[in-house]
Amino acid sequence: MPPFFRHPASLDHDTGLGHPERPDRIRAVEAELEARDWLGWEPVEAPAATEEQLLRVHPAEYVERVQSMCGRGEAFDMDTPTSPGSFEAALRAAGGACALVESLLTGGERTGFSALRPPGHHAELDRAMGFCLFANVAVAARHALDTLGAERVLVLDWDVHHGNGTNALFHDSREVLFASIHQFPFWPGTGPLDDVGSGDAAGYSINLPVPGGTGEAAFLSLVEHVVAPVARQYRPDLILIAAGYDAHRDDPLGGLRLETSSFGALSARMRALGEELGAPVGAVLEGGYDLDALASSVAETMAALANGAVPPDVARHPLAEEAAEVVGRYWEL
Ligand SMILES: [Zn+2]
Repeated sequence: MPPFFRHPASLDHDTGLGHPERPDRIRAVEAELEARDWLGWEPVEAPAATEEQLLRVHPAEYVERVQSMCGRGEAFDMDTPTSPGSFEAALRAAGGACALVESLLTGGERTGFSALRPPGHHAELDRAMGFCLFANVAVAARHALDTLGAERVLVLDWDVHHGNGTNALFHDSREVLFASIHQFPFWPGTGPLDDVGSGDAAGYSINLPVPGGTGEAAFLSLVEHVVAPVARQYRPDLILIAAGYDAHRDDPLGGLRLETSSFGALSARMRALGEELGAPVGAVLEGGYDLDALASSVAETMAALANGAVPPDVARHPLAEEAAEVVGRYWEL
């Protein structure tokens, strides 16, 4: 039974009236899953991240700063408010991602989901931004690498926004191969195609920007014809999906056109890739601000991740051809 990490503390991160990253997101997801008997998954209470886990990514002064800012309910910036319940929520969000990789690498699970808030992929080493406090996926990847025997972690970030935090944290590291499909130009402005990583990790950041209005065909082609062949050469021990749902056509923030079923198709592709490579596949919630689209798309993701059916081939899209010209300097495509 795949684990679904959650915690009621996710509801106590109060971002204020009118903020899109709100507790109702979690309520909507859990109501949908409740109605579907959790799709046969097992809801598990996420542990709080330990100080040791957080300090592998963030400096101690930053963790203390997040704690004191949350205690006073101060905002890091206009997008990123906090409340007294936010610190515990953030600890559980990072801790759920760590528990997820434990269940995948030492617990024998082939897939799982950590669905807590706040999200994490915009959080940098010592900077909260874009609704994110701790870099949940990065903390989980470091946990896998430093304590669970993983040597290479592939992260696919399909949130509509570029995962600037995760990208920056592993920019010069080959231990994490960060691939991101995101709307561009768009907030936060990072992640052009030619940002390929730095030093001897050039080629280990794969940024796949797509213009507003892009839909499923391009996403699937970028995964099939760019991310998958790179993954076969990289041979990850673990695949993490930074699973944002704001590329959905109904999302009020994003400008892309994925359908609910698109997330199932993407998930099926990643699960098939994981099976082929012997790597478990975990998803960690990022954005997604239309409640119905978010809830149904999370369920679609879970169904496809658990099913493991081999998806049909995908035609080459011009955006994948364009990306292959840059990524192909580092990998055989
Ligand atoms: Zn987003």
